[in-house]
Amino acid sequence: MVSLNILLFCFVVKSTLGSDLLCINRGGTCQDDSISCPGGYVSNHCSGAANRRCCLPSTSSGHCQDDSMTCHVGIYVSGLCSGASNRRCCTQVKDTGSCNNVKIISRDSWGARDPKTISQEHLPVDLFFIHHTEGPSCTDTATCISIMKGIQNFHMDDRDWSDIGYSFLVGEDGNVYEGRGWHRVGAHTQGYNSRSLAVSVMGNYMNHLPNEKALAAVKALIQCGVDNGYISHHYRLYGHRDAGSTNCPGTTLYNLIRTWPHYSTISLH
Ligand SMILES: [Zn+2]
Repeated sequence: MVSLNILLFCFVVKSTLGSDLLCINRGGTCQDDSISCPGGYVSNHCSGAANRRCCLPSTSSGHCQDDSMTCHVGIYVSGLCSGASNRRCCTQVKDTGSCNNVKIISRDSWGARDPKTISQEHLPVDLFFIHHTEGPSCTDTATCISIMKGIQNFHMDDRDWSDIGYSFLVGEDGNVYEGRGWHRVGAHTQGYNSRSLAVSVMGNYMNHLPNEKALAAVKALIQCGVDNGYISHHYRLYGHRDAGSTNCPGTTLYNLIRTWPHYSTISLH
C-alpha cells in the first residue's frame, strides 16, 4: 500500500503540476477542503494551496473490471483498483456539480432508466449548444418529470439511442433536469457531440421565449459548468441551428441567445 501511494504521488507530481486535470479526469471538483464532500477528498490532484483538494463524485457502488467492458451504471474512475491499468472502477456517479443559484434534479430523483451504453466526454468542452424540445413545456416539477420520462423513452425506444440525448434539460419550473450529465457524450448536436455539452429547454420557442425562471436556470447551469471545470472559460455558445439544418432552439429563443456574451459568430461549418 505504501509503495502504491509513493508511486501515485510520483505520477501526480510528474504529470499534472499546475493543473486540475487529474481531478477533472476522475470526475471530481477542485475546491477548498473545508467544504463537505460526500465522495471524499484526495490530495495532489489540484493546483494551488494544499487545502485545495479534489472532491471525488459521491458514489453508491462500484466494481473493478476491464475498462473495455461497458460501464453501464456510470463512468470509469482510475486509481481505485489493483492490477493492470485497464482494470478500473466502474462507478455509479451521483455528481451533478455543486451549482449556485440553480437546482439540478438528478437522474435518480426523476427516475431515469439506466443507459444502454456510455462514452465518457473529454472535459472541459469548448462548445455549448442550446436546444428546445419542441414539445410541451412544464411549470411544476411533477409535470416536468413526466415529460423527462417521455423524452427518455422516445430517445431510447423509438430513436434507439443509448439514453436521453441532451446533457441537461430545463423546465419552466426553474429546475435543471440531469440528462446524460457533465461526464458523458450526448446525442444532441450531430458532428459536435464529442466536444460539446448541451441543454434543451422543454417547450417550443419558435414564437415566444421561455419564462424568466427557465432562462435564469440555463445561465446558471452554464456558469456552474464553467466554475466546475466542465466547460472551458473561453467556451463558444451556439444554438442547434448553427450546427445543422433545424429550427431548433426556436426562432425567438435563438434571437435571444445571440445577444448573450459567449454567443459565437464563428462559423461551425
Ligand atoms: Zn436541437
